[in-house]
Amino acid sequence: MTLPKDLQIHCRKRILKRVIPCIILISVFATILALWGSVIFNTDNKAFQTSCYVVVMFIPFVITGVPHKLIDSTYYGTVKKVDIVTTTDNDSAVKPTREHLYLKNTICLSIEQPDGKLIYKKAYSGKARLQQNINAYNEGDLVFHLYGTNHVVVLPDANDSFVHCSVCDSSNDIENDQCRDCGHSLIKHI
Ligand SMILES: [Zn+2]
Repeated sequence: MTLPKDLQIHCRKRILKRVIPCIILISVFATILALWGSVIFNTDNKAFQTSCYVVVMFIPFVITGVPHKLIDSTYYGTVKKVDIVTTTDNDSAVKPTREHLYLKNTICLSIEQPDGKLIYKKAYSGKARLQQNINAYNEGDLVFHLYGTNHVVVLPDANDSFVHCSVCDSSNDIENDQCRDCGHSLIKHI
């Protein structure tokens, strides 16, 4: 499929937003090590010093989440199966007490792509008591996910009067071509 131009640009910007800070941090850390590395890690043990350097150079990747956060793809297909898994999660990673426990719903979809390949994707996760998106996905729905976004949107069928934006997930009138919230092109069919 060919994406509208503005969505292509949006994807490219998302990649740059992650990669540029990573490159800047790598340069900063490399400069610091080149100038003061032997002072900071003042030891005769060359092997130890080298491993310290390696660990330090990993920090930019840990902070920015590159390349892990870049792993995603644009996909679409038909929902074959909807799995809603309820698990217990915690609000506070620092102080995980009983008060912070809550039940979480995770919606996973088995999606059949146009080439017949079946993929399994997480479509949503959130507090179970909010019951959000619980009926959002049904078997047979055509769904679409845009690279780098957190949403899997259901494409409208002939009876639908609204369409979800693939970038920000807000609901728009089916007559609109651009999202009223973020201004990006709306995908109504593929
Ligand atoms: Zn939008």
